[in-house]
Amino acid sequence: MRRRWLGLAVLLCLALSHAPVAHGHAQNSSNTDRFAAQRAAMVADQIEARGVTDRRVLDVMRSVPRHLFVPEPLRSRAYDDRPLPIGEGQTISQPFIVAFMTEALGVSARRRVLEIGTGSGYQAAVLSRLAKEVYTIEIVPALARRAADTLKSLGHSNVHVREGDGYAGWPEHAPFDRIMVTAAPERIPPPLLEQLAPGGRMMIPVGGAEQWLTVVEKTPNGVVERRTIPVRFVPFTRGQ
Ligand code: SAH
Repeated sequence: MRRRWLGLAVLLCLALSHAPVAHGHAQNSSNTDRFAAQRAAMVADQIEARGVTDRRVLDVMRSVPRHLFVPEPLRSRAYDDRPLPIGEGQTISQPFIVAFMTEALGVSARRRVLEIGTGSGYQAAVLSRLAKEVYTIEIVPALARRAADTLKSLGHSNVHVREGDGYAGWPEHAPFDRIMVTAAPERIPPPLLEQLAPGGRMMIPVGGAEQWLTVVEKTPNGVVERRTIPVRFVPFTRGQ
């Protein structure tokens, strides 16, 4: 297992170190172009290489400017294969995890999506390009404000950001076809299950020291849960 990841890491480094040559004009291109090339490499080397195949998800990951969702000093690292700090002790998820969760959630243009844990707003931005409406809740006020500003400045007018404890969901806009949780609770918050529409699906990291990204589906025969991959998300916190 460890050798496989090492191999992958080495391959990744090789691929990344060759990217500017493959793109030829990288040296004299503008910042925007440089980031577009980095985004294309991110999608090819980190996301497609690990098995994400949904064309729409790959296209969105190639187009949303991830560097604008990270603090300015970290912009040059925005397309690295890792989560990054966004302030307040929180992180923006690794690109692969964003793509994996988005594909597994199965979002289409008719869907209304609830996200818990807005953070930088990046995952919400990705979802907003695929869904009808995105409702997202962030418990840290400074992050909620910054994410709302970033999303507005980039024209994501179908994202609605609210500051508060996502444990209670957003009953005024329920039920939701899809729910994505990007902080890890020990157990699935019952209000979120209640606000999931019949036939709906939720992606949620569940656990403490050991967490599993879990798919939860509300079927006619009841709620079905299935573990996917082990993950490490920041803990789901509770308001006072
Ligand atoms: N989706 C984010 C990554 C989020 S990190 C992105 O794309 O950048 C997880 C976020 O969940 C943190 O910002 C944290 O403050 C928030 N969070 C933790 N517990 C929460 C809760 N109970 N309600 C709402 N947000 C919560």
